[in-house]
Amino acid sequence: MSKIVGIDLGTTNSSVAVVDSGFPIVLADNAGCRITPSVMNFSGQGVVVGEAAKRGRNAAPKSTIYSVKQYMGRRYQECTKDSRSVEYTVSAGKNGGVLIETGTAALSPEQVSAEILKHLKKIAEAALEEEVTRAVITVPAYFNDAQRQATIKAGKLAGLIIERIINEPTAAALAYGLDKLGDQSKVAVYDVGGGTFDLSILELTEGTFQVLATNGNTRLGGDDIDQRLVDHFAIKIAEAGGPTREQLTPEAAARIREAAEMTKIQLSQAESYEVLLPFLTSEFNFQHTVAREDLETLARPIIEKTRVHCRRAMEDAKLSPSELDQVILVGGQTRMPLLRRLVSEWFGCAEFEETRGNLRIGENHHHPDGPALNISQHPDEAVALGAAIQGAILTGEFKDVLLLDVTPLSLGIETFGGLMNVIIPRNSTIPVKGGETFTTAVDRQREMLVHLLQGEREKAKDNWSLGKFIIEFEEAPRGVPRIGVQFEIDINGVLHVLARDIKTGKEKVQQVRSAVDVDDADVQQMVEESVEHAFDDLAARRWIEGSLKAREIAKATIQGLKVCGEELDDNYRRAIEESVSAVQQTLKPEGESAGEYVGDWKKLQDQVKALDELTHDLAEIQMQKLMDELLGQKGLAS
Ligand code: ADP
Ligand code: MG
Repeated sequence: MSKIVGIDLGTTNSSVAVVDSGFPIVLADNAGCRITPSVMNFSGQGVVVGEAAKRGRNAAPKSTIYSVKQYMGRRYQECTKDSRSVEYTVSAGKNGGVLIETGTAALSPEQVSAEILKHLKKIAEAALEEEVTRAVITVPAYFNDAQRQATIKAGKLAGLIIERIINEPTAAALAYGLDKLGDQSKVAVYDVGGGTFDLSILELTEGTFQVLATNGNTRLGGDDIDQRLVDHFAIKIAEAGGPTREQLTPEAAARIREAAEMTKIQLSQAESYEVLLPFLTSEFNFQHTVAREDLETLARPIIEKTRVHCRRAMEDAKLSPSELDQVILVGGQTRMPLLRRLVSEWFGCAEFEETRGNLRIGENHHHPDGPALNISQHPDEAVALGAAIQGAILTGEFKDVLLLDVTPLSLGIETFGGLMNVIIPRNSTIPVKGGETFTTAVDRQREMLVHLLQGEREKAKDNWSLGKFIIEFEEAPRGVPRIGVQFEIDINGVLHVLARDIKTGKEKVQQVRSAVDVDDADVQQMVEESVEHAFDDLAARRWIEGSLKAREIAKATIQGLKVCGEELDDNYRRAIEESVSAVQQTLKPEGESAGEYVGDWKKLQDQVKALDELTHDLAEIQMQKLMDELLGQKGLAS
């Protein structure tokens, strides 16, 4: 059977690994490099990928494409709001997606990623001396369905069969050999790359990884630290009488950015570093020394931003730090000593054997019972190695390890009153199946719109729309049709939806795959907003559910009065009429738009209860009348 390679397709860097004679290894290109910058240059000479393209960025900033992962499977509209600034031109494609202008052509993010993947495929083929067609590719835990689909598409464009898409932190845990830890061991995977931050809590159960919770931010990473340094340099350049930002050529700006990253990387080892940028303009040379402490002052607020995500993931997993066995670090940015110190402090890590980097933990950070901070692997290689191990598990070369991932956000459909009905809750282990039966709210309805939603908010409109489709069924009074809706998330995180008319068995299947159907913003923002609006959302849900019930009871009462109002005592009838109108008043105050209005739930509940009690007699009279009629009919017939 042919080999399955593991690919870490990163925002900043990518790499390809394979299991060779039982050992996972990252494959090197012919220059000996095991890490390929995720950078592409598309010029007259054709496509250049990797280190050469990154070096060419100074000379050709307009046609050098980097950080393309942030556009994968996303709409142009959303990207313009939150993506990192780039020096090349990005525009809207025909179908609302992103187009990347290279100067000579316009490419989709998938096409650019495909070029990076083709390059990695070549590296693997040269190293293995055989054709490579099968791959496992990793994605951030927070990638939604559209982003995963776009990654699969890029793989196909590169001539690869994508055997599996797995989450980066899960792959890293495999590479760290955490399957060797004892049963019930719990591990936090802390991953900071160039553009994303992910935290995952894993548990080992009978040799199987289970993801207990994930959290993170898709717009937080090492690039932000570089940006702080760029801003710092801009101030220093201005102070030294050099050009302002506006006066810089794109080439000079790119050189400053490159110097910023170099400074940051050097300061992971050195205590100070001297930046030298000769001829930023024809008459200005920049020279500046940065101490590690200066960098730490700039970087600290950015690293601190990851803390709240750590806390939330721990809350979701219902764990305290002392219940963790290990914390592992993944992503190039985690080589920074300050970061290691802070993470170690937050998780109350016990002292650990230092194997890489120059970490110093203060006495006060020493917790004998805390988890170990494990930095035994190269943080920027672990993900690719884990993907290769997953590949070897698939070919049967490695056995007895199974990966289980979780859903980052809840999935469901819109129901009566515009509410979100969750079918698969957030943090469910995949593959997963869930279903529910729905009915109609209106008489003689013949079809139902199934509106697929993703998110944590109570009102449908506050969640992301994953698409809509219509299921038809036989005409019947309201409440009679039975429509089964089933959600299934497969092992790759792709959602399959099936809706079925239970009476006829007629069904409709929808697979959520198009980026354009997804109203994606940012998962993190979604989770944050759901917390922020928790009280309002609860109030809205209670109100909508309560008012649906109140309307139904009011309608039934009015119907009852119509049928047997004449048989009622005047006072009793008036009392019922007043009670109904009180309910209606609370339901519909004047001048309020019905859809958005959230009224006094408690008041409505009390009024409905009063009406309910008051109408006991009416209900009895109604029932008696119905019985009489039925008996009367019988009498006629016989
Ligand atoms: P991604 O997963 O986003 O492709 P990586 O894991 O390769 O990214 O991490 C890239 C980030 O790591 C960049 O911001 C880079 O500057 C940073 N980085 C790489 N090496 C070091 C280092 N020695 N010290 C600090 N940061 C580093
Ligand atoms: Mg990464």
